Amino acid sequence: MARGEEVSSAADTVRTERDRFVAFAFAAADIVLELYPDGCIRFAAGATSALAPPKGGKFEGLTFESLVVEEDRGVARRILAEAGQHRMDPVILTMSGAGGRPLRCVMSGYRIADFGNHFFISLSVVRANAAATQAASNIKRDEESGLADADSFSELAAEVLKAGREGGGSSELTFLTLPDFEAFRGRVGEDVRRRLAQQIGEQLRAKAVDGMTAGRLGDGRYGFVHRAGLDLAGLEEEIAETTRALDPEKRGMAVSASTLDLASGSLDEDGAIRALTYTIKKYMTSRDGTLSVQSLSDSYEGMLNDAVERIANFREMVGSRAFRVAFQPIVSLETGAVHHYEALARFADDVDSPFETIAFAEETGMIGEFDLMMCQRVLEILGELGPDDAPEVAVNLSGRSLSSTVFMDALEAVLERNPALRSRLLFEVTESAEIADLSDSNAAIQRLRRSGHEVCLDDFGAGAAAFSYLRELTVDYVKIDGAYVRDALDDKQIRAFLKAMNGLCRDLGIETVAEWVENEATASFLMSQGVQFGQGYYFGRPVFDLAPARKPAPESAPPQPKKAKSKAKPKPETTTPPAPSSVRRRGFRETWG
Ligand code: C2E
Ligand code: CA
Ligand code: CA
Repeated sequence: MARGEEVSSAADTVRTERDRFVAFAFAAADIVLELYPDGCIRFAAGATSALAPPKGGKFEGLTFESLVVEEDRGVARRILAEAGQHRMDPVILTMSGAGGRPLRCVMSGYRIADFGNHFFISLSVVRANAAATQAASNIKRDEESGLADADSFSELAAEVLKAGREGGGSSELTFLTLPDFEAFRGRVGEDVRRRLAQQIGEQLRAKAVDGMTAGRLGDGRYGFVHRAGLDLAGLEEEIAETTRALDPEKRGMAVSASTLDLASGSLDEDGAIRALTYTIKKYMTSRDGTLSVQSLSDSYEGMLNDAVERIANFREMVGSRAFRVAFQPIVSLETGAVHHYEALARFADDVDSPFETIAFAEETGMIGEFDLMMCQRVLEILGELGPDDAPEVAVNLSGRSLSSTVFMDALEAVLERNPALRSRLLFEVTESAEIADLSDSNAAIQRLRRSGHEVCLDDFGAGAAAFSYLRELTVDYVKIDGAYVRDALDDKQIRAFLKAMNGLCRDLGIETVAEWVENEATASFLMSQGVQFGQGYYFGRPVFDLAPARKPAPESAPPQPKKAKSKAKPKPETTTPPAPSSVRRRGFRETWG
């Protein structure tokens, strides 16, 4: 309207003001609703045709809850019940949309005392490209609680962390533990347990960022992300009250909250997400039933800070190559000759074994960078010896790295830069981090084998899935886990397993390596079983100097056998185990001790 034609009458002024405010409301929302204090709709306007058509054609008189899909009704009810006289934090709710389709909306609103405590609600449909909907539509939910499952929760929490770093305000993540859950469950039965999960689910979602950043992380374990400053003592009490109300004996359970600040600033975004994901995983696997409430609430914050520091240190270590490579021989049990060496990482701050550091790198998804760097270092060391003298060396690859095509491409690039030396490399695939997708891993293994690298499956027998691994993965060697080798002579049962594993490999035409061979008696026993290769302190400890392949054999040593096969050719399907030779067996110590 033109400025000159200002409205004159008082009624017109009121109407104009009202229209102006409705216009403001629609600038931010698609649908606006006014509800009575009991949640019944008094007024609805805007793009209401996006909602499932109301029975009787009118929204007025229906409950707000009835517009929401079944799974979100409890949350909707709770949000209204808890709304104070301030703006509600926006929450993502799924409404029943037209045509039976779910309609994701951001809901926010006020409850206004001056208007008879009515609710004024705005709903904005989340557009398909919005990050939040993307995240929401990928959420896998735990059915009982309606909360995200553990993986989805980690992803959602990471999204909030990212948003916070981009300036979206500070959030916190709280773990909620019911330490006595097992006993409670045994006492109250399945039905109560299910109702408890559902109610806690609603309670957490009502307070979680976007109404969805809450997850069920195990039995009696939950996590949710909320704005900083939430009354957690109040929440603990509220949930404890829920457990009492559901308990036929009205005893209930204690609830303990442990909070992390998501604004841990010293790492970059990628590192911060790794630290967070790691801490969530640690929470899920920890056994903290016996911890006091206070130590529980301190321990995860400490763990997160610790992870942040270790991630920074590990990256610094890889970036500055502050690690060394030790080499340990793998010898033919028959001849005592070195077949190849295994490259083992040595970190400055690890007293002896790199195991802890490697496991941490695996759990935080950083092992790929390290495996590549290790490969590069080994190629450099081999380069110093020259292509003629460089022995064959096995590099460890985490099973987790193998399933990443990004990793495999990067590995291929490293190998291609070293055409003269790459034929010296073979790979050991460790299963210390469970191999997630066997067919992907096998594809990666075959890619390496087609390029002429032999592959050894490490730690065979250590995990639960040994036999299915062998069915799905085609490899050249299997390394029998050291625990079987170490105890073989003393333990009949272990010996039976060792024999079975070796027999299976023989039938499959796969050569076996036994690790942790510490004495001659063990070496003899292994050879009598037809194991081809041995590795262990008996033959040689890991050392930093890599001997040239053509080092002249010592006087007492048996002659070096000619190389069994060329790396460039595929391995034959079957191999005949060499006949044991007591003469050669005696040569071990002199040659490699
Ligand atoms: P692994 O691959 O099973 O390596 C064999 C381990 O057995 C090595 O431990 C080696 O030092 C140890 N060992 C060798 N002979 C004997 C023996 O006679 N008796 C006993 N008790 N132990 C023996 P280490 O060097 O502490 O490495 C631990 C693990 O760390 C490795 O186990 C491997 O899983 C991992 N690791 C080491 N270097 C790398 C690496 O460069 N990349 C990856 N992804 N993992 C690595
Ligand atoms: Ca290994
Ligand atoms: Ca091993």
